Amino acid sequence: MLADVDSLVPATVKIVNRPGGWKRQSYLWGAMQGLGVTFRHFMRNWPRNLVGRRALSDIVTLAYPEEKRAYPPRNRGLHRLMKRADGQVRCVACMMCPTACPAHCISIVPEESEDSRIEKRPGIFQIDELRCVVCGLCVEACPCDAIRMDTGIHAWPTTRRADAILDKEELLSRGELSTAMQGGEGIFWRERK
Ligand code: SF4
Ligand code: SF4
Repeated sequence: MLADVDSLVPATVKIVNRPGGWKRQSYLWGAMQGLGVTFRHFMRNWPRNLVGRRALSDIVTLAYPEEKRAYPPRNRGLHRLMKRADGQVRCVACMMCPTACPAHCISIVPEESEDSRIEKRPGIFQIDELRCVVCGLCVEACPCDAIRMDTGIHAWPTTRRADAILDKEELLSRGELSTAMQGGEGIFWRERK
């Protein structure tokens, strides 16, 4: 049933003024204040940066790669293969690391060792750094401290996949003497003489 038109009460509109004066309503004042903060930081940082006193400025970024920050000791960088006292590779091609590797990026082809005390050594040892997820499981799996990731070096960018595959010579070029005892105990077993 339709209501009688004459009985309808007209709706009232309540007009509420915007809070604040023109400064707040135009946003101009706020924008000027923001620019003022930016300018203040600029005047504080730019001259210091210009005269080589960047450390005294508020700048927290690094001009990488010219500037580098030291990584903590447990940082995982590029792999390296460690050496024996005679300079030979410590790896005995036990295949623990490729077995543990979740990315299947380690390829090892064992060969016979000339040293009669050692059963095998890697003839081919390759790591595909593009597939590597930097988990460190290969280092943990190795029973004789033959592989480490303590170089502090990033895998470098490349446009050719083949350049990201590190071979035995490359991995050994960063290697050093390791005196770890096989089956050593404790958290510092790799440093044990
Ligand atoms: S760090 Fe992880 S992903 Fe990379 S080679 Fe070692 S086990 Fe494989
Ligand atoms: S776990 Fe160690 S010894 Fe075994 S294959 Fe890997 S690097 Fe060589």
